[in-house]
Amino acid sequence: MTTKAFVIGHPIAHSRSPLIHGTWLAENGLDGSYEAIDVAPADLPGFFERLRAGEFAGGNVTIPHKEAVFALCDSVDELARMIGAVNTLVVKNGKVHGTNTDYLGFLGNLDANAPTWSDGPNDAMIIGAGGAARAVLVALRRRNGGKVHVLNRTLGNAQALVDEIDGPFSAHGFEDFAKLAPHIGLVVNTSSIGMNGTRFDWLDMSLLPKTALVTDIVYTPLETPLLAEAKAHGLRTVDGLGMLLHQAVPGFAAWFGVTPVVTPQLRARIEATLDH
Ligand code: NAP
Repeated sequence: MTTKAFVIGHPIAHSRSPLIHGTWLAENGLDGSYEAIDVAPADLPGFFERLRAGEFAGGNVTIPHKEAVFALCDSVDELARMIGAVNTLVVKNGKVHGTNTDYLGFLGNLDANAPTWSDGPNDAMIIGAGGAARAVLVALRRRNGGKVHVLNRTLGNAQALVDEIDGPFSAHGFEDFAKLAPHIGLVVNTSSIGMNGTRFDWLDMSLLPKTALVTDIVYTPLETPLLAEAKAHGLRTVDGLGMLLHQAVPGFAAWFGVTPVVTPQLRARIEATLDH
């Protein structure tokens, strides 16, 4: 019997997940399908009934459902609770289990593209304090021994984030960048700055150590102004597309029973869709 998986959202047409999972299904010769399904918020409970009836092995959840599915899942793991969002569902024996794979996507991307990034404790700076910042903070808590400074436009949102997740974390406004920069080994942009030509006008790359790694989880455009500037200053950079690809790995493995590989060919296929 064909094993079926999905991504649900509203709207959903923009999702690149069908191309990612479709590529892996074909590469592995599996009898499976992965479809994008537009589910309006009011229809979410009905969709969960289809899940419990066994129509799908599981799937991904995207905007605007990442928080709403909490109440509908039969179980949600500790990780998704800490991050505050579910992006992956796995159905077993009529029960729907929710998890979050964004933190694994973030780690997988850095491990693949900057393998020594977590050697030794490294003080890090996260810019932004939204949903994605939570996943990155959880990831750094697990893998990076240093302090993490969260810089955000709205200081109160950064403060709320560091208060909720236990660790050597502190909250700052953007004006603290210059003071913190000389001690930073890793800069992660999780804010939406970088999309649609927006840029940081306060971020002076020359204040960062020459060994610093700069990564942006925004991947449209692939080379954000932040990454372009970091490169111009001779700093190492990792773009955000790999996070999208790596976060898809655990879901595919759970639904289809094969751990897929993020290959340069897969990346090229997705990259080709970014301007569309
Ligand atoms: P979110 O929850 O809406 O948070 C947005 C963050 O950006 C907040 O910290 C917000 O600051 C800040 N921000 C927005 N506009 C700003 C501006 N004009 N100036 C300064 N700060 C601004 O969004 P999210 O879910 O965390 O996602 C953030 C970005 O990450 C999106 O571009 C998303 O596409 C990307 N993302 C990528 C991946 C991946 O796989 N690569 C995964 C998840 C998300 P305030 O608190 O002050 O509002």
